[in-house]
Amino acid sequence: MERILVLGTGGGLTLNCYNTCFLLENNEKYLLVDTGAGAQILNQIQNVKVDLNNIHDIFISHKHVDHLLGIFPLLRVICQNIYKNKYAGKVNIYCAKEVRKIIEEFILQTFHGMHIDIYHENVIFHDIQDGQEYSIIDYQVKILNLYPKEDIVQFGFQTKLSNGKSFAFLGDIPCSEKNYDKIQNADWVCHEVFCMEAENEIFQPHKINHSTVKDVAENMQKLGVKNLILWHTKDNCIQQRKELYTQEAKQYFSGNVYVPNDLEVIEL
Ligand SMILES: [Zn+2]
Repeated sequence: MERILVLGTGGGLTLNCYNTCFLLENNEKYLLVDTGAGAQILNQIQNVKVDLNNIHDIFISHKHVDHLLGIFPLLRVICQNIYKNKYAGKVNIYCAKEVRKIIEEFILQTFHGMHIDIYHENVIFHDIQDGQEYSIIDYQVKILNLYPKEDIVQFGFQTKLSNGKSFAFLGDIPCSEKNYDKIQNADWVCHEVFCMEAENEIFQPHKINHSTVKDVAENMQKLGVKNLILWHTKDNCIQQRKELYTQEAKQYFSGNVYVPNDLEVIEL
């Protein structure tokens, strides 16, 4: 079974949903992609009925709080579970060097001594770079530089699913032109979207390097993408979000549109 278990769908500051992060599942093997902004990651994993002790691979796109902070409660529990012999095997974290530095520093400063020893023995960092490939959950995962405009690094990835379809995760910034050739005709693309076109003046997504639904839909239509997952949104209209965003996207995009709520499951 290949699917996405959606843990969160919100942008940087959301109260009505968790921040965008998800589990990519390949036959009960899980890649956790981003961790949200806090301890709610633990509830969300429980809520999609996945045993945390079965998660051994974690990808972190960049160092912003809404993608990174969940790693600390997560590692805190994993270290505890290793101590209690509930968690077998290593934890692989795939992230940029600058992200690794923050994680290591914070953990060394804040974890109990016993947990720090367990952390050193069991957490393996992989310093990701553009074009590098890793075998993760039986997928060949290729790292994509997302070319953020800000002075930080941000990575996404692409992979071929076991069902033959191509899948790309593009973090929380608009798809860079430098990646158009890689996304062209993709079967699945996960893309950020901040708000609807009509809200452009109010929320000004372009100023913070985010997109409107229309922006993304038009762009992905040009690139011939087949299935589009939209998330990392404002939470001002969370009850109507699925309907309104889908409606707008479908005006410009002829493929399938998914605007999931937290805890939804998407079959790939
Ligand atoms: Zn974000």
